[in-house]
Amino acid sequence: MHVASHGAFWPLDGLITAAPVRCRTQVFNAYRGQHCQHGSAIAGVMAASLAREFLFQAGRLCSRSTRCFGSGCTGSAEPESMATETFRGVGEVRVFAYPVQDRARCIAVVRGNVSRLGGVPIPVRIHSECLLGDVFDSTRCQCGPQLRDFMLNVLGNDEHRNGAMLYLQGHEGKGIGLSNKLRSYVLQDGSERLSEEDANIRLGFAPDERSFRAAAAALEHLEVDSVVLYTDNPRKVAGISTAIAAVVPWSSREQRWIDEAVWARIRGQPT
Ligand SMILES: [Zn+2]
Repeated sequence: MHVASHGAFWPLDGLITAAPVRCRTQVFNAYRGQHCQHGSAIAGVMAASLAREFLFQAGRLCSRSTRCFGSGCTGSAEPESMATETFRGVGEVRVFAYPVQDRARCIAVVRGNVSRLGGVPIPVRIHSECLLGDVFDSTRCQCGPQLRDFMLNVLGNDEHRNGAMLYLQGHEGKGIGLSNKLRSYVLQDGSERLSEEDANIRLGFAPDERSFRAAAAALEHLEVDSVVLYTDNPRKVAGISTAIAAVVPWSSREQRWIDEAVWARIRGQPT
């Protein structure tokens, strides 16, 4: 079986048992398959490069309980507080503040009923805090557009009726903090033109310090049993423990796309 991208086919025999569904773009196809020895069902909608890295990450990390998928096998976490809010363009949501895990606090913004839906997936984005992008709309990264696009066009989309934004405070600069992120920017902009990863290493950090356990624990607490994850980051895919029904690439507004079959699954309709 293969995953198609740009007319090329990448062999994934033995990793995905896939059945293609209708695709509206030339870039991505949707696939449903079994993955990992624990039997977590994953249907991916992903570019081939993402699929290959994701499968590597997921296969390497998945080794714990039968409920668990990925590295986030931490169990539930009770929120410290919760309130009902109304957001412009989204409507009424519940906001949960969870305790810090692995130096990250998950703020869950939940629309509608997301608990125990019998395998009907809900749209979820795991968003790493980025002050300059999220708040000030820096052009250096895509964080701001990705955040607003999900909030307005997915969570606020009445087609969905439900979903969750899992915002991770403490993930600034891939987990190195804002001050160090600014130092990393200086190295990236300097004469050596270091990559973000190399700059973080130069500063004494790992290329990516983030853990997604706090997001996994929030999904456990919310009793979400299936998600469509909006991300282009395979570490986020590997990091949550809830079954993933699909992955929708979410790297920029231009790449925003979702297959009609995935939309139908989100709505609970047969495909
Ligand atoms: Zn950013």
